[in-house]
Amino acid sequence: MSEKSQFSPETLCVQGGWNPKNGEPRVLPIYQSTTFRYSTSEQMARLFDLEESGYFYTRLQNPTNDAVASKIAALEGGVGAMLTSSGQAANFYAIFNICEAGDHFVCSSTIYGGTFNLYGVTLKKLGIDVTFIEPDDDEATIEAAFRPNTKALFGETLSNPGMQVLDIEKFARIAHRHGVPLIVDNTFATPINCRPFEWGADIVTHSTTKYMDGHATCVGGAIVDSGNFDWEAHADKFPGLTRPDESYHGLTYTKAFGKLAYITKATAQLMRDLGSTQSPQNAFLLNLGLETLHLRMARHCENAQKVAEFLQNSPQVAWVHYPGLPGDKYHALARKYMPNGTCGVIAFGLKGSRQEAIEFMDRLKLAAIVTHVADARTCVLHPASHTHRQLSDEQLIEAGVAPDLIRLSVGIENADDIIADLCQAMNG
Ligand SMILES: *Cc1c(COP(=O)(O)O)cnc(C)c1O
Repeated sequence: MSEKSQFSPETLCVQGGWNPKNGEPRVLPIYQSTTFRYSTSEQMARLFDLEESGYFYTRLQNPTNDAVASKIAALEGGVGAMLTSSGQAANFYAIFNICEAGDHFVCSSTIYGGTFNLYGVTLKKLGIDVTFIEPDDDEATIEAAFRPNTKALFGETLSNPGMQVLDIEKFARIAHRHGVPLIVDNTFATPINCRPFEWGADIVTHSTTKYMDGHATCVGGAIVDSGNFDWEAHADKFPGLTRPDESYHGLTYTKAFGKLAYITKATAQLMRDLGSTQSPQNAFLLNLGLETLHLRMARHCENAQKVAEFLQNSPQVAWVHYPGLPGDKYHALARKYMPNGTCGVIAFGLKGSRQEAIEFMDRLKLAAIVTHVADARTCVLHPASHTHRQLSDEQLIEAGVAPDLIRLSVGIENADDIIADLCQAMNG
């Protein structure tokens, strides 16, 4: 699924994943086909039993998707990856691959609202319990949330929308002391700015909808496996990986696939049974986005730094959260884990009422009000009025979202134009 690569991230962005042979297309083709032809029924049967690898149905695997997954795996430094139809599907499968009814996992409370809902409400209906913890608490306090049936620890490298930085090494220590993997949603940082596997994370997830696509064209997701977690060392905790799978004639993933056990099970079992495949057309567009990810991330960070400094010096602004600012609570962690910059997202609040914040946003011209974040065009969202509008002010604060928080996603336009737009909207 992926080749460990000697190339640097910039080269992998442009050339990773698709290696055409003599006479094949230079550009990754879209294999717009649900199915694949075989000359003997015998061979097809071997594919179904996972005795041979090969394509047979796009719900499980498709060559376009695999090339893009392999590029993402190489960028993260993992052994294999799987594309999903959305980031939500990626975060669902990442947990569901190792948790079943009766199991429990521990999760940072400062995560994307959609993930918070998926884990806190929907997974509970499947019998999988979660405990949300404050990620900045000390190790002992976080460890108190672990139980004998705990199967994973989850957090976001950079939290959406609060822009808190995860102490990945601390989280990895805690997870490994309890014999469970650390799963990190690396959507905002992208592997250009942070590779969580280098700090001890075991599984990485992405909403590729954001910077990886980068142009707001396709909803998508990915799961990447580091291959580092020793499932056999904790065999009793992970029977789905270490004991025979009846739906594959008693095959055991760790025995048959070694370091690729987790990601193979996610593909062969979860994708087979639940779907949520990414379309090859979307994977092709995602790949175009990935080809410039390294250029775009640098510009997002450069622009966001200028905009954050402008906001910090504006008398109308009450507060700014951007880890690139020297006074930011997460500046030191950002310097450690993301020395080249974090991302283009800034959280800030204006002095004045919630209504005044809404009027400010309505006056913006270049920055559009959209339910999106992390793409080439500058955009804004007021979570309290939009994504989190069902919550009271007290519930918002509990979820780490201040009622006055404006999420500004700084694009790759000219920074002076973005600042001029903010300026006219604040003074309007
Ligand atoms: C957007 C987002 C998701 C969900 O991804 P979709 O592609 O919208 O399903 C998950 N995690 C983070 C950090 C996100 O920003």
